[in-house]
Amino acid sequence: MDLKDLYRDVIVDHNKNPRNFGRLEPADLHADGHNPLCGDQLSVTVNMAGDRIADIRFDGSGCAISVASASLMTEAVRGKTLTEFASLHARVHELLTQHDSSIDPVSLGKLGALSGVREFPARVKCASLCWHTLQAALQHETNAISTE
Ligand code: ZN
Repeated sequence: MDLKDLYRDVIVDHNKNPRNFGRLEPADLHADGHNPLCGDQLSVTVNMAGDRIADIRFDGSGCAISVASASLMTEAVRGKTLTEFASLHARVHELLTQHDSSIDPVSLGKLGALSGVREFPARVKCASLCWHTLQAALQHETNAISTE
């Protein structure tokens, strides 16, 4: 099986059986995201332990790419600090948007499966919606910390 087949299987699997699907109640942080170009809608709930993402869930409805991307993201960011999240987000953003990216998809583990999306510019927003939504949720945390 070559890498392309493997990546396709990862996307299909995470779309059919999304991980961490649902809602944390109560949740420390929450944000909703909407991609009007495709109709994808996601909600992300997060519980923090200090500056670490202790738990995360997502729900909503959307295309296969948006759901698989959110599922992969929740697995990748659980246990990460805000700084680690920011660094991972930057690398995924580059992987999704830059054709000449020097980032090796394999170095991102399963998230590398999203590398095929950059061949389809209309789908980039589907794949990045969950990341922007989580970023928005975490931004509230940063604001809360800075005003204390
Ligand atoms: Zn979509």
